Amino acid sequence: MVALPSLPIPLLRRQKHDPQDAPTSLADVLAGVALRRRLGENPNPVIVSCQGVERVYKVGGDEVRALKGIDLELRRGDLVGLMGRSGSGKTTLLNLIGGLDRPTAGKVIIEGQSVGELSDAAATELRRHKIGYCFQSFALLPVLSALENVELPMHIAGMSPRERRRRAVELLDLVGLRRRMHHRPFELSGGEQQRTAIARALCNRPSLILADEPIAELDSVTGLQILKLFMHIRDVEDVTIVIATHDPTIHEVADRTYHIVDGRIARVETYEDAMVQV
Ligand code: ADP
Ligand code: MG
Repeated sequence: MVALPSLPIPLLRRQKHDPQDAPTSLADVLAGVALRRRLGENPNPVIVSCQGVERVYKVGGDEVRALKGIDLELRRGDLVGLMGRSGSGKTTLLNLIGGLDRPTAGKVIIEGQSVGELSDAAATELRRHKIGYCFQSFALLPVLSALENVELPMHIAGMSPRERRRRAVELLDLVGLRRRMHHRPFELSGGEQQRTAIARALCNRPSLILADEPIAELDSVTGLQILKLFMHIRDVEDVTIVIATHDPTIHEVADRTYHIVDGRIARVETYEDAMVQV
């Protein structure tokens, strides 16, 4: 028999945090938090600028003109809505703002870089470091816990285990899921899954969060709480947030809402405008 080399036995460490005093619900997180409303001009630097943006899809021999000339400017700390019916062009615009796609005409400039002129590698870098995405379907990996799902992009980005664990716990705390962080997605409610996905979108400290129909699968109470969570995140992380939705609840949280009709911005409504109508 060959003697096995003696292996060091890892010491069992006690968990440092006390999950008992962590919040369980978003209402707990938001209780007592004054959600800041931005009124009037935002003096911060421009993060995204769209200039005469068009996008034509070629399908067989046909052309679909999904965007027909979009001009907009987003500044750091803006929280804006893209509102419109299904097929109006919201997802197409989000994909362009996020560097996932390139315009057929016009320019999309993200932090001074024109997306259409970037190499594929540079566009990937831009997406990885500057942009966080949230989707309607949450897109969590079912075999991983909430904590592991949030850690995954930081793992891919090469962050040290200690640092990515610290950041993941901090973010799950921010979204009120500290007590649920070892649960897998199927053990979480829809709202909790979306909160996990929002924490994941924030992990690489992006300057821009893009959320495509993030409340479409949630009931109205949970949906409003998720929108308020975006307000809270804007304040804590100082990011720019764009939310595409067909849900008019967006008016309650957005500084302004771009109404998209048939590939064009039909009008821009500020929070003050929306509240005057109520
Ligand atoms: P929304 O997100 O507001 O529902 P989309 O941006 O998904 O709208 O779609 C805008 C228009 O572009 C629609 O007419 C849609 O059918 C078309 N479209 C979107 N993506 C593609 C694609 N990959 N190929 C062809 N047409 C597309
Ligand atoms: Mg869409």
